[in-house]
Amino acid sequence: MRHTRHHLEDDIGRMEAGSSLLETDADTRAEYRRVVAKHSEDYLANLSDGLAYVQDGYGPDVSDEMLRPGEPIPINDLVTYVENRVNKPGINMTSGGLMGFIPGGGVFESALGDYMAAVANRYAGMFYASPGAVRMENAMIRWAGEMIGYTDHFGGSLTSGGSMANLTAITTARHAMGIRNRDAESTVIYTTKRTHHSVFKALKVSGLHECIVRKVDLDASYRIDVKKLEQQIIDDKKAGLKPFLCIINAGSTDIGAVDQPIPVAKVTQRYNIWLHIDAAYGGFFMLTRWGKEFLKGIEQADSVILDPHKGLFLPYGTGIVLVKKASHLIDTFKYHASYLQDAESMTAEESPTDVSAELSKHFRGMRMWLPLKIHGVAPFRDALDEKLLLTRYLWDNIREMGFDTGPYPDLTIVIFRYNRSGVDTEALNRRIFEDIRQDGRIFLSSTNLDGVFNLRVAILSFRTHKRHIDLLLELLKKSLQKHLPNVGKM
Ligand SMILES: *Cc1c(COP(=O)(O)O)cnc(C)c1O
Repeated sequence: MRHTRHHLEDDIGRMEAGSSLLETDADTRAEYRRVVAKHSEDYLANLSDGLAYVQDGYGPDVSDEMLRPGEPIPINDLVTYVENRVNKPGINMTSGGLMGFIPGGGVFESALGDYMAAVANRYAGMFYASPGAVRMENAMIRWAGEMIGYTDHFGGSLTSGGSMANLTAITTARHAMGIRNRDAESTVIYTTKRTHHSVFKALKVSGLHECIVRKVDLDASYRIDVKKLEQQIIDDKKAGLKPFLCIINAGSTDIGAVDQPIPVAKVTQRYNIWLHIDAAYGGFFMLTRWGKEFLKGIEQADSVILDPHKGLFLPYGTGIVLVKKASHLIDTFKYHASYLQDAESMTAEESPTDVSAELSKHFRGMRMWLPLKIHGVAPFRDALDEKLLLTRYLWDNIREMGFDTGPYPDLTIVIFRYNRSGVDTEALNRRIFEDIRQDGRIFLSSTNLDGVFNLRVAILSFRTHKRHIDLLLELLKKSLQKHLPNVGKM
């Protein structure tokens, strides 16, 4: 039904009165900021003596009125809800005691970057929309690419995390190598026995799971066995198959072992295979001298991913994909849209949308740029060096206590378990794990390595220092004494 002109203007007026409430005035904004800032400061102030794990909030909770959008609620009530019901239960990723999974911590300045990015809401997908935002994002990509040793003509984008970065790299590899769907059954992908599951998910999402996937064995140091890799490639070629893609770890998530890029790259180059290095965990150790040594040759990869929300300690939501030849990314992702035709003459720099699957996106560059510029790079490097040293300190000490460990750590992950003849090893180590979880000040995870239960420590939060490692050692000792009373006397 058409409005009469008179009614139309009346209705517009009424709706404007309601919708204008979204344009919050300066006093109200100041009040919101005060409440949120107080909440954030209280949170950070309680962090150092807080818990890394709170076993709460896991029960059913379907009828929660505070969650369902509806009537307006005062900000104080909402912030109180966040404080009690969101920030308390579960694993505290900001705690220095967090040593499970892969920590990162979440540097504060990133939140301010997000705040500025969201207030101005610059459109970071296209250079035409915001040359400044795109320049900032591209500068982060350039910095990361140069850090790993890429030189000219590389490209990349800021993603939501490592999983999407892997997906972007794998899709690019497929396109660049001309793999068609009908080729899948004769095309071979090489991973390792310890490849991260996000890689297999990316293979599935991109349709490449129908290829033949070889999970190559590891050597005694849990790194890819390069001889076996090459032998498998030779066998596959003899059988008339097409080796296409090889994916290795620069820091496996389970054990932290770094597959050595140089010997692997020699093989992949010899057989014209795309080499992808998953450095989501280990990539930023390239800022350190030790890391540069360990990851030497990483720049030979055709694509690499890193996770600033791990090794650069940013809050969750930032990954990086880098591709050695930017043209491969552009060939894969650049599209033309008639309603965006005005943008095309305004492209002094590559637009993120032309090198990724996203169009409208979070302006992630600001949350990475602000902390790096406020602090400079040095404290990030020192923090990573500190984590490497803390890991070796932990490794030495738990061996002294009688734990069996994996090999000397490449990076900052240690797996260990207590094993003595006459004790039920699995039950004992599960009890130790449970004791530490119940205490809550330190949070570990566990991993199943070739059918064996192992305790696992990953040290990567900028807030983790020697006192946290000493506390962990104390907790381990106490737990051992409780379950094996004569251990303490050794
Ligand atoms: C964490 C991790 C991923 C996945 O990254 P997300 O940021 O969690 O999506 C992939 N590979 C490795 C080696 C990782 O450690």
